[in-house]
Amino acid sequence: MIMTTSAPSRSPRWPTVLNYSIAVFSAAAAVAVAFSMDPSWGADHTLLFLSVVAFVALAAGPGPAALASVLSFLSVQYPLLSGYPSVPPSGEAIRLGLFVVASVFVVLLSAARKRTSASLQLLLDNQQIMIQKLQQQNDALRLENAERSEATTRAQVAEQEIRQTVDTVPALIARYRPDGFMDFRNKNWREYTGLSQDNLGGRRWGSALHPDDEEMVEREWRNHIATGEPFELEQRLRKADGEYRWHRVRRVPLRGETGEVIKWYAIAFDIDDRKRTEDALRTSEADLAKARYELQLIIDTIPVLVLRHRADGIIDYVNEVGRTYSGLTTTKWTTRTSIITHPDDVPRLEAAWDAALVTGEPFESEVRLRRADGEYRWFVTRRVPLRRNGDVIAWYAATYDIEDRKRTETELIESERRFREAQMELAHASRVVTMGQFTASIAHEVNQPLAALLTNAETALRWFARQPPDLEKAKSSIERVIDDGKRAADIVNRIRDFSRKAPMRKERLEVNGAILEVLGLTRVAMSDHGVSAKTQLSAGLPYVLGDRVQLQQVILNLIMNAIEAMSEVSGGLRELRICTSEADSGSVLVAISDSGPGLPPTGLARIFEAFHTTKASGLGIGLSICRSIVDAHGGRLWATPNQPHGAIFCMMLPIGE
Ligand code: ADP
Repeated sequence: MIMTTSAPSRSPRWPTVLNYSIAVFSAAAAVAVAFSMDPSWGADHTLLFLSVVAFVALAAGPGPAALASVLSFLSVQYPLLSGYPSVPPSGEAIRLGLFVVASVFVVLLSAARKRTSASLQLLLDNQQIMIQKLQQQNDALRLENAERSEATTRAQVAEQEIRQTVDTVPALIARYRPDGFMDFRNKNWREYTGLSQDNLGGRRWGSALHPDDEEMVEREWRNHIATGEPFELEQRLRKADGEYRWHRVRRVPLRGETGEVIKWYAIAFDIDDRKRTEDALRTSEADLAKARYELQLIIDTIPVLVLRHRADGIIDYVNEVGRTYSGLTTTKWTTRTSIITHPDDVPRLEAAWDAALVTGEPFESEVRLRRADGEYRWFVTRRVPLRRNGDVIAWYAATYDIEDRKRTETELIESERRFREAQMELAHASRVVTMGQFTASIAHEVNQPLAALLTNAETALRWFARQPPDLEKAKSSIERVIDDGKRAADIVNRIRDFSRKAPMRKERLEVNGAILEVLGLTRVAMSDHGVSAKTQLSAGLPYVLGDRVQLQQVILNLIMNAIEAMSEVSGGLRELRICTSEADSGSVLVAISDSGPGLPPTGLARIFEAFHTTKASGLGIGLSICRSIVDAHGGRLWATPNQPHGAIFCMMLPIGE
């Protein structure tokens, strides 16, 4: 703070004219006073004038005082002197002399006082100046002090802020001595490692370094301490809880004026998450690359021709297998259908491909493709679309060899055909055998209409032989002859059909009628074996769809087996029962039951096996043929025990559409 000082006090400097005027007026005043004084008073004027001189000396200084002395001497003492024209009396002279001496003395005193006063003033002024200077210096010092204290405070604040910053900055900060030992670590460092500031004299790293990194870091650090070059390294630092996390550590040297390293400052950033992400990324990239490689390997190795088609259907990629198979090395075939497709298959394939490209639906087709050696092999090609935002952007095709399967299929179809043929042959043979057994029955069947025919013909002749011939009756007899002939022809046709070898022919069949026809053929056999037949045929049965001859063969077989089984039983009732009904499941059920010995103990399942028989002269193929016929009609054939004895054979046939 600057102190203002008042100016030093000085006696007013009267102007010289004024001083000398004072001297003149004072002397004049003294003369006036001296002349106005009554001489009787005996007053001594010398004292008056001396007083005037003293006054002037005091008030105006030595010069005016000298003037006042001279004027006083001349003006006042002149008359005095003039009263003594020659030599004044000695008393007066002494007085005058004393006056002069006193005046001189007063003037000298005044001069001395003035000088002293001037010196004092000078001294005072100097002192004042000194005081002012001191004051200024003091102010300056105080200012300086204030500034210094302010600077100190600022420095303290700044230091505090720096310390706070260093402690708060989200990084581990440390300082090292030139020899590489840590001598400071920030709060984050201490909190992260859980190590205090105390053990700084210990290891260079404060034991926070991962043991596996120690050797490498130590080596690098030594090198950098030697070269004084900045240092940057990734290393693992242990957290207070024992977890090691990756950090990027950077240390830079602080150099003195001569360039020597005074300190090292270090900062460490946690890069663990980044490193993990990078590692994960690297791993996933490596995995991806591996997966890609493996995928490529799979694509090129699996025994499938893999093709990619553009959205417009043109092939733009063929895998190694495809290239090897075709012998064509180029992967750009630039056609919609591969050029190795069998010419006969191209139109069909193109048409199907066109349709798939329009609908965007997966596509599958069988096609022959030419191998490098020129042989065509069957393949199945399946193409599926790859979509992006609903639009087909490509098609992927897997085409695999089905030549062997195709051959096997053909062979299977062929063997099935042969099997069916053989089965038919067998069925036919079985029918012929059965018919052989029923020759008597057949003869009887045919015989009946023929006998009736003969009788009716003879009757007709008799009506003709009458006189007059009864033409009306003869006509009706002949009509009966025709009916009998038709009936005989029907039977013969049926027998011929039955023995005929013809492919399976499905027709709408009335089951009850078919049963009665067969029953007619077996009537003789039944009477031969003392078997009585009972039918319980449900009226209004729906038609079934089937081959009449084959289904009648089944019924015949079941009836024949029943008759044979019952013929083994001596005594007791031999009764064959045939029932038909409509089953719930939209089928017709035929049940043929007998009162024979029942099914053999070998099991129900085995009797349907081919060549399984319990009869000495049996072939064991009857039931197996029956079952395959019923199966071929989509029906079911099974057997159950009858009560109290005997067997029931059931046949379920689906209703025809
Ligand atoms: P086969 O009559 O030549 O033996 P099948 O296949 O017709 O051949 O019959 C197989 C076997 O089923 C017969 O040997 C017999 O043991 C048994 N079987 C068939 N029908 C009956 C039946 N109605 N009662 C008892 N057993 C039967």
